[in-house]
Amino acid sequence: MPVIEIRPKRPLPRPNQAAVESRLAVASEERAQFRRALLHWYCRNARRFPWRETENPFQILLSEVLLQRTQACQVRDNYERIAAAFPTPHALAAASLDDLQNALRSLGLAKRAATLQMMGRELVTRFDGAVPASLEDLMGLPGVGRYVAAATACFGTGARVAMLDANFVRVFSRYFGVVSRKKRARDDLALWRLAKSLLPRKNAQDYNRALIDFAAVVCKPRAPACPDCPLRQRCQAVSARIGR
Ligand code: SF4
Repeated sequence: MPVIEIRPKRPLPRPNQAAVESRLAVASEERAQFRRALLHWYCRNARRFPWRETENPFQILLSEVLLQRTQACQVRDNYERIAAAFPTPHALAAASLDDLQNALRSLGLAKRAATLQMMGRELVTRFDGAVPASLEDLMGLPGVGRYVAAATACFGTGARVAMLDANFVRVFSRYFGVVSRKKRARDDLALWRLAKSLLPRKNAQDYNRALIDFAAVVCKPRAPACPDCPLRQRCQAVSARIGR
C-alpha cells in the first residue's frame, strides 16, 4: 500500500501525518469497511440513468463525454435524443458540425461538437467503428481523458478498472483524511493507486457507480449530509471535528 502524501485541505481539519500513515499501513480492513458500507448504501439508493441501462460501449462513451463538467440531470434530459441521433461511431463521424452543435446546444455543450466529431472519425478510421477496450487506446481519442477512459472500460466492458475524479477525491479526502499535494489531485497517480486498492474483486461497476452516486447525493461538495451518512462512524472528517 503506497503512502499517500497529504496536506490539509481547508476547511477540513488538518489530519495528523503520523496517524494517517499508520492508518494507511493497516488499511485493509478499513478499505473493506468502506466498500461494504458504500455498496450497502448503493443497494437502496442507486440512481437510474438511461446510460446505465445499456451495455453498448459507444453509448457509454458518448454519455461519459457529455457528463464531463455537466450535471447528470441535465444530461439525462437530453441523452436519449442525442444517443438516438448518433447511435454509432459511423453516425457521429458522418454528422455535420451544424447538426452536432444543434444537438448539443440545449446542454450548453455546442463547443464540444467538433471534439465529438473528431472522436467519431477516429473510431471509424483507427478502430473500424468499434470502441477500443484498452485504456491507452481510449485515452488517445479526442476528448477522452483518464477518467472517461476508465469509466468507458468499466461500464462498457465490465473491466475491473479504478476511476478517479474530483468527486472521488473529495470523498477519499474526507473519509480517509488524505489529500494529494498535486495541484490537480485527480491526476495524482498515488490517489489512482488508492482508488485501485479500494476496488472490490467483483462488481467494480457497482462500486464505481456507488461512489459516483454517494459523492453526488451524500458527500456533496457543499453541505455534506454527515448526520445521515452511513460512513460517518469511521469518517476522518467527522472524527476530526468531534475531536477538536
Ligand atoms: S460523514 Fe460526511 S464527510 Fe464523511 S463521508 Fe459521510 S458525508 Fe462525507
